Amino acid sequence: MNVLVINCGSSSLKFQLINSESEEVLAKGLCERIGIDGSLTYQPEGGEKIKSDKAMPTHTEAIQFVIDALTDEKTGVVKSLDEIGAVGHRVVHGGEKFASSVVITDEVKTAIEECNDLAPLHNPANLIGINACQELMPGTPMVAVFDTAFHQTMPKKAYLYGLPYEYYENYAVRRYGFHGTSHSFVSKHAAEFMGVDINDSKIIVAHLGNGASISAVVNGKCVDTSMGLTPLEGLVMGTRSGDMDPAIMEYIAKKENLDIAGVMNVLNKKSGVFGISKNLSSDFRDLEDAMNNGNPYAEAAMEVFCYRVAKYIGSYVAAMNGVDAIAFTAGIGENSGTVRKMVLSYLGYLGITVDEEANKGRGEDIMISTADSKVKVAVVPTNEELAIARETVALV
Ligand code: AMP
Repeated sequence: MNVLVINCGSSSLKFQLINSESEEVLAKGLCERIGIDGSLTYQPEGGEKIKSDKAMPTHTEAIQFVIDALTDEKTGVVKSLDEIGAVGHRVVHGGEKFASSVVITDEVKTAIEECNDLAPLHNPANLIGINACQELMPGTPMVAVFDTAFHQTMPKKAYLYGLPYEYYENYAVRRYGFHGTSHSFVSKHAAEFMGVDINDSKIIVAHLGNGASISAVVNGKCVDTSMGLTPLEGLVMGTRSGDMDPAIMEYIAKKENLDIAGVMNVLNKKSGVFGISKNLSSDFRDLEDAMNNGNPYAEAAMEVFCYRVAKYIGSYVAAMNGVDAIAFTAGIGENSGTVRKMVLSYLGYLGITVDEEANKGRGEDIMISTADSKVKVAVVPTNEELAIARETVALV
């Protein structure tokens, strides 16, 4: 079956058409500036990227252009819509309502809408994408795959904050966690690749991308994760602060004459390694180069980032009372041997020994611990689209 995977943002839409038997990506692309002007980037398997400007007042036009591209006589990869058996939609927030993926019905859409408050930038856009697809592909089954679902197995002690209990009861304030599709995919694949029995395992997944989160997975189930009610909590990220003393918000608001929205903007967009490096970059390639050229702010950014990851790993070893395997994934985790080396330099006490040569590799499954290391450590590339396609096929 061919599955169309859709990841809808407020003004963008990423898509992949995946053949579920071969797990090949038949075509992929991106619509940008929806509601502004509009452009479509489309790439069939083995073909060139084609970029064209197209008027996209709404997501419905964007999805129509995607369908047109996929079925185009020359550059298309299917003859008609009949060859697309299902659509898998990435949905950011499923609140406590969704602990797994679901076939989309009217009730499901209402429940997603009820989570809008928890992800005001993402869930409404995800719903717009779902509605637009349903309009253009009536009769094609659609599945929602939630970023939060994998983390719903966390115990109460991990998801409750030290806040009045009523905030949880009345406003659903708790830890939800994000990147769940990636943590789920990578923990399973890591167990397979490293030869660990998933049903008897303690695995830590470090999803280190521009947004970064880490999770503790026991016997295939998430028991803790670093992102919280929103993706702002936890690790230091590209531009997000991660954990900090909440009183800093009031202090900075007064010093810089900012309101809550102003402070939130700083914490989400101007902090993290970008802020620490004095706005040099949020990209670790730039930071690494600058650090190697003696830039002290880039060095501080790299050190703060890696130290925070190491501290989280240590706390999850405590939470799980041990660890069998650690997997590094996402843009930084898969590509930066320097970051992995800096993180692992704190973890010798776990009996981890690193294969320095293997750690220079990137972008594929690589065991980076030595054969005698007490804890296995590997690079395990994530593939959220494939994970969504697999979930979709399993449900339809
Ligand atoms: P993601 O959000 O998973 O797409 O990750 C994007 C981030 O990965 C970028 O902002 C970079 O910081 C990082 N990245 C990508 N390629 C490399 C590389 N070769 N070396 C170091 N960092 C990289």
